[in-house]
Amino acid sequence: MNESTLRIGVLMPEVLGTYGDSGNAVVLAHRAKLLGYQSEIVHVSCTDAIPQTLDIYTLGGGEDIAQTIASRRLLTDRGLEHAVQNGKPVLAICAAFQVLGTWYTDAEGKRTEGAGLLDVVTLPQGARAIGELVSSASGLQLERELTEPLTGFENHGGATLLGRDALPLGFVTYGVGNGQPGVAPGLAEGVSAQAGVQQGREVSREIPDGYRATEDGKAVEGCVQGSIIATYMHGPCLARNPQLADLLLARAIGATLPLAVPEIPGLQRLRQERLAAIK
Ligand code: GLN
Repeated sequence: MNESTLRIGVLMPEVLGTYGDSGNAVVLAHRAKLLGYQSEIVHVSCTDAIPQTLDIYTLGGGEDIAQTIASRRLLTDRGLEHAVQNGKPVLAICAAFQVLGTWYTDAEGKRTEGAGLLDVVTLPQGARAIGELVSSASGLQLERELTEPLTGFENHGGATLLGRDALPLGFVTYGVGNGQPGVAPGLAEGVSAQAGVQQGREVSREIPDGYRATEDGKAVEGCVQGSIIATYMHGPCLARNPQLADLLLARAIGATLPLAVPEIPGLQRLRQERLAAIK
């Protein structure tokens, strides 16, 4: 962090704000305040230049058509790419996970080029995965930092496949997570059968060369690549997962974990309630 005020970006909320994920920035600002840091939430609209020097970047979920505006924008404005090259922490949720990838194909079969910041591609699952999503740190990344189960709410039609450079954030213990192309959520091998599923339709199950839908046969959630953490967890997910919030904050302020954020009343109860909701 180069100034005394932590600057937390919310990128393109007009198109990536459908699912309330801008709440992640509010959570970061609140936890920063409890730590004694001033912060500012910087809304970067679709017509603003993307600043390269924010301390943390957040991008949320959106609808298939709306998210193409975000991908086009990220291909013409390389502000976020420069920030990533400089190691700035980025949290990308759902549509943003897809948009930061190499390409994605939406429910109508239309393929759109992504920003190319994540080695992932997204294809239709053929049905929407809607419901609670729980995972545990995959053990490939961040297993010391994220010791508690990750909990969120998923709502997506896309299945995101990981390439060599992208490691899974979590292994799914409930719900669908990144999913598999053409496999109705809940029916895929290794994917929990209890997840909420909307009526499906036939789409290709083909997995493009160089990409994987599972890791060691296990269903995966999200990905980690460099300073980017991407996930299908809405919630907003940082309200439900303080360890993830503190990981981003620690990286932004150059501190080591655990951060001395005082206990927030009700937060553990919220987590227990959400984790119990799947039983
Ligand atoms: N439009 C994307 C999909 O359905 C992302 C949805 C979202 O951001 N919740 O897969």
